[in-house]
Amino acid sequence: MSVQPIRLFGDPVLTTSADAVTTFDKELRVLVKDLTDTMVDAPGAGLAAPQIGVSLRVFVYDVDDELGHLVNPVIGVMSDEEQDGEEGCLSFPGLAFPTKRRQRVVATGFNMHGDPVTIEGSALLARCIQHEVDHLDGILFIDRLDPDQRKAALRAIREAEWSGLTAPVVKVSPHATGGLAV
Ligand SMILES: [Zn+2]
Repeated sequence: MSVQPIRLFGDPVLTTSADAVTTFDKELRVLVKDLTDTMVDAPGAGLAAPQIGVSLRVFVYDVDDELGHLVNPVIGVMSDEEQDGEEGCLSFPGLAFPTKRRQRVVATGFNMHGDPVTIEGSALLARCIQHEVDHLDGILFIDRLDPDQRKAALRAIREAEWSGLTAPVVKVSPHATGGLAV
């Protein structure tokens, strides 16, 4: 069984900065497969390793029929141009809020075999890459909302039926930030 339970907001692994992958071994390939199977099963457009409880810098994506993964990703070039759109997260079931992101990004990293990889993304893929790299830094999409939307999000989270299933108190992520982390 490689579909894993998805960790929900409130689980401390989601607000912990993940460790870099240092060994490109079978364990890593199993992790990429588990992430991919879990994302496809959900279904979702992306999934980061902390979302299945593994604090390593790995994410997978499935955007515009392009299925991929990136290990130890670093976002380099980002356009100044922004995009608006509803964004959700598999760790916040059923919730989505308008979230500003950059329109284009270039991310570098490695595939599961340790070969260098560069991904250029715009629109939805760019949004996905920014969202997933944030996960690896312990930053959640609600940290990117404007103050009014953030208030609405926290209220919706408190009222969500899954709220409090993983932690006794729903806490605000400590990583509130004004700009994109690169
Ligand atoms: Zn997410």
